[in-house]
Amino acid sequence: MSFPQAQQPRTAAANPPVQPMASNLLPSDVIKISATDHVPTPERQLTKVAKLIDVSKCIGCKACQSACIEWNDTHPTMEENVGIYENPHDLTPDMFTLMRFTEYQNPGTGELEWLIRKDGCMHCEEPGCLKSCPSPGAIVQYSNGIVDFISDNCIGCGYCVKGCPFNVPRIHKTANVSKKCTLCSDRVAMGQGPACAKACPTQCISFGTKEDMKALAAERVEDLKERGYDNAGLYDPQGVGGTHVMYVLHHRDKPSLYAGLPDDPRISPTVALWKGSAKKLGLIAAGLATVGAVLHGIFAKPNAVTPHEEEEAQELVDDIDQGGDGYPHGHDHSHGHEQAPGATPGKEQ
Ligand code: SF4
Ligand code: SF4
Ligand code: SF4
Repeated sequence: MSFPQAQQPRTAAANPPVQPMASNLLPSDVIKISATDHVPTPERQLTKVAKLIDVSKCIGCKACQSACIEWNDTHPTMEENVGIYENPHDLTPDMFTLMRFTEYQNPGTGELEWLIRKDGCMHCEEPGCLKSCPSPGAIVQYSNGIVDFISDNCIGCGYCVKGCPFNVPRIHKTANVSKKCTLCSDRVAMGQGPACAKACPTQCISFGTKEDMKALAAERVEDLKERGYDNAGLYDPQGVGGTHVMYVLHHRDKPSLYAGLPDDPRISPTVALWKGSAKKLGLIAAGLATVGAVLHGIFAKPNAVTPHEEEEAQELVDDIDQGGDGYPHGHDHSHGHEQAPGATPGKEQ
């Protein structure tokens, strides 16, 4: 089916200018919604966008990490220094992007190479997280390719974690919602690039249309090849339909050298079959898990439970006793269940 092309979104390359403009990313631009079979066809098709991370230009300064924390107003815990540069030691619900450092003794040249990769959501064209999510509206994809988590609709069940071939989402234990990089969808909506791209001092991170980013990558790959990296190439894995975060790698033949970047990521067959009644059962299971979590909260941390939470827990138990679906009606995270398919997603944070 052909779509009328929307006005070209202003998704400038690295370090875009800040200019007032009309929003170019709207709720009506959603093309995929978790646990929802029929999504209305949008009136327009946005140009596909991508973030290109050229690992050969990265100096490991972590300005991107800091910018991400600042823009998203997260508060990650700085962990103990155990003699490596990674801190925190893994992605967390408050750390959407993480610089990973690998020392590699190149057998061809005998040289020690320091491979630094910016980890985070790859914004897959075919997102396994969205496919596996049983909660309607908790994960959406816009027609420009960005995959967004909508916290108000998330029930914190963790299925997205299992469904992601890149091991990216993290469950926030107290908020009980899943978190990951949004590709700064809120900034992109206003015509700006991601905060990390804006902050990067070496222009290792560029942002623009996917087509432009592929052209830029081709130039960089050619340059790397001229400098002796014969296997340099673009990482845009087709097993997930391509990604909207891509890497230029010196060693495209061995992605796993870069702190375990998957060589050939794919959605697991179990997740691909995860639909229909199996998904509904999953939602019920997730509801039961939520009951368990609430009850655990009551018994494990009695001082932290408010009268309102106690009422919610009782409501959940009553619902199950009466043959209900076990879903936490009236709870913040129940919105997705009660919301009609195709409901308008809001801003994540
Ligand atoms: S990398 Fe994981 S979390 Fe991000 S879009 Fe792909 S499947 Fe979803
Ligand atoms: S795109 Fe935005 S949310 Fe994602 S890593 Fe960069 S700054 Fe963080
Ligand atoms: S800001 Fe740029 S150079 Fe610094 S760590 Fe991030 S990607 Fe690398």
